[in-house]
Amino acid sequence: MEGKSGNIGNPYIQYMYSYPHKTAYRPLKGISLRNFVDVMAGKGHGLYLHIPFCQGKCGYCNLFSVTGQGTEAMERYLDGVERQARQYREILGPYKTEFSEFTIGGGTPLLLSERQISRMFELVNSCFAREEKSEAGIETAPNQTEKGKLKLLKDMGITRVSIGVQSFVDEELLSLRRNHQARRAKQALELLAWMDFPCVNVDLIYGIPGQTVDSLIGSIQEALRFGPDEIFLYPLYVKHGAGLAGEGMSPDWQYAYRQYKEASGFLRSSGFRQDSMRRFVRKRDRREFSECGFGTSLALGCGGRSYLGRLHFCTPYAITQKTCLAQLEEFERTADFSVVSHGILLTDEEMRRRYVIRHLLIRPGIELRRYEEHFNASVYNDFPVLKDWMRQGFLQEEKQEGADKKYLALTEWGMGFSDYLGPMLISDKVREKMKEWDEIHEPFGDPVSGKLKKL
Ligand code: SF4
Repeated sequence: MEGKSGNIGNPYIQYMYSYPHKTAYRPLKGISLRNFVDVMAGKGHGLYLHIPFCQGKCGYCNLFSVTGQGTEAMERYLDGVERQARQYREILGPYKTEFSEFTIGGGTPLLLSERQISRMFELVNSCFAREEKSEAGIETAPNQTEKGKLKLLKDMGITRVSIGVQSFVDEELLSLRRNHQARRAKQALELLAWMDFPCVNVDLIYGIPGQTVDSLIGSIQEALRFGPDEIFLYPLYVKHGAGLAGEGMSPDWQYAYRQYKEASGFLRSSGFRQDSMRRFVRKRDRREFSECGFGTSLALGCGGRSYLGRLHFCTPYAITQKTCLAQLEEFERTADFSVVSHGILLTDEEMRRRYVIRHLLIRPGIELRRYEEHFNASVYNDFPVLKDWMRQGFLQEEKQEGADKKYLALTEWGMGFSDYLGPMLISDKVREKMKEWDEIHEPFGDPVSGKLKKL
């Protein structure tokens, strides 16, 4: 692919929603949560609860989720979450922690019964304090979006529901191995619109084999009929042991990029603001950008990640039914959740990389003075490549409306290359660890990613 300054090649290298990737985590010894929770003092933190159950495994899924589990298995899991939450409550006690964001993800959280959903909220509410104006979000899938469960979510103060629709074309859903049909997705969206949650997000995928620019735009138009507040457009990745990778499915990235250009332009001209390569927010949404900058977050359950300053941890990366079930058994047997046995301790340099990756790829971008104050250095000195990217037209300095702050942000054109630029900020050490993991778990190589470039 021709960029403004030469040949770029495949712009879809890797989705950098966090850094470092879980595949760079390793066993840890002698680490107690108690020695790291001081960063969770006071307000402004995230709480995440992972519900790892799904109706079926989607062909592209590389998340921690299992299928075919009944009520008893889910109950056992909630027992484990409850023991963990109680221990975390005791550990956090002296720090008066209040959470500004609570997210329930998965998996498919609404696969739980109504009684289990109530139990899930009760145990979280009894163990953790949430800030008065905290946000609470949940992920759902069309087949599990039922009236009774949504009412319960409304009563529990859920403010954001994110639904994985992916496409409104049945053949495309079939080739993704999604479990629902377009008709069911429309019913679910109707219900969500009727329930009037403060924010409804619709996830869609492009780059699906057989999907055209027109069918993608058709899916977006269909989604817009239900008045969502946000649309996430995800390029299709098939990697790390996903079912479709075994079949050799490899998306056509050139066509995917064409779809991205058309679809992002369409959304921008339909009253949406583009905040990142994936995220489109309806312009009427006046909510402030609330991200505190360092992303301190505590995860409950098995498979979710905790970020406590320089300590990042979670259960070992698992995708397949067998490895996820083994992790779940281990989780249910755990007696002491204060012992952190798998994760990574970031150096100061890695903390800077994380900061840049987390802020550069989403609007409003990196606030230049804030970076300087926090790290006592200029972001351009720490990452000279950023100047090159400015020269190449990927980045620009800009002021936010009505504020006297200068940000370094992706240009509209640069946003389309987020999955190409982000991976270039991975350090050599982390890259080596990821490669080591890939070689052990994917001896035949990654079907999509190609080679990562060095800084
Ligand atoms: S993509 Fe979502 S719904 Fe599909 S298997 Fe993975 S976690 Fe479950």
